[in-house]
Amino acid sequence: MPLTVHQFACLSDNYGFLARDEATGLAACIDTPDAGAILRELDKLGWKLSLILNTHWHPDHAGGNAEVKAATGATIVGPKEVTRISALDREVEGGDVVELGETRFKVIETGGHTLGHIAYYDAADEIAFVGDTLFALGCGRLFEGDAAQMWTSLQRLAALPDDTTVYCAHEYTASNARFALSVDDDPTLRRRAEAVFAARERGEPTVPTTIGLEKATNPFLRAPKLAARVGAAGKPDYEAFGAVRAAKDVFKG
Ligand code: ZN
Ligand code: FE
Repeated sequence: MPLTVHQFACLSDNYGFLARDEATGLAACIDTPDAGAILRELDKLGWKLSLILNTHWHPDHAGGNAEVKAATGATIVGPKEVTRISALDREVEGGDVVELGETRFKVIETGGHTLGHIAYYDAADEIAFVGDTLFALGCGRLFEGDAAQMWTSLQRLAALPDDTTVYCAHEYTASNARFALSVDDDPTLRRRAEAVFAARERGEPTVPTTIGLEKATNPFLRAPKLAARVGAAGKPDYEAFGAVRAAKDVFKG
């Protein structure tokens, strides 16, 4: 039985996600960017929340934990770093499995944006919730980790099947596309960027994406191929990645 995902926009550019295990009707929310919005969406759907899955400690991901738990009684699961801003009922790390009814989420360690960041992967349904690690045409800023750690994390996600549906936590795709075009002239990227700009003009989301699409067009995953463009020719892959990341950090577009 499948996992049904409900995505909604909240705060200025976050996405909230509710996921329901159809075999049992149990529901989870991935992160708690906006407790009010999450509770309203649950109400609208008539879903009962049993699980909160945090990807990292940032307030736009774990800031609503207490309010959502108080209203629903859901169990809070996340990496240890979340205890900086919220209580946790269960601490998890890479390799752990979290069950929602018959759905099994494998925890993948994806540190770099924050040191303890994790992703949740449901292999049976080929669905991944990646928080602020991988974005459509982008990746998270290196607030706590370094380029080597983030590159390793991105490679773990890139190793998932191409068809994996990837739910990233922000709508940053249009600005990511403008940066991507500044370092890469690949025709597949150019076509995708046009589609992204058109979708945003129409007010449509560009999330979710897929692993295959990101491997083909995301300048951070393509960093080794773009090394010469960012002054990292002949350098190890993680340094090429670090150079692309540094270029994005100062990109004005
Ligand atoms: Zn974050
Ligand atoms: Fe965030």
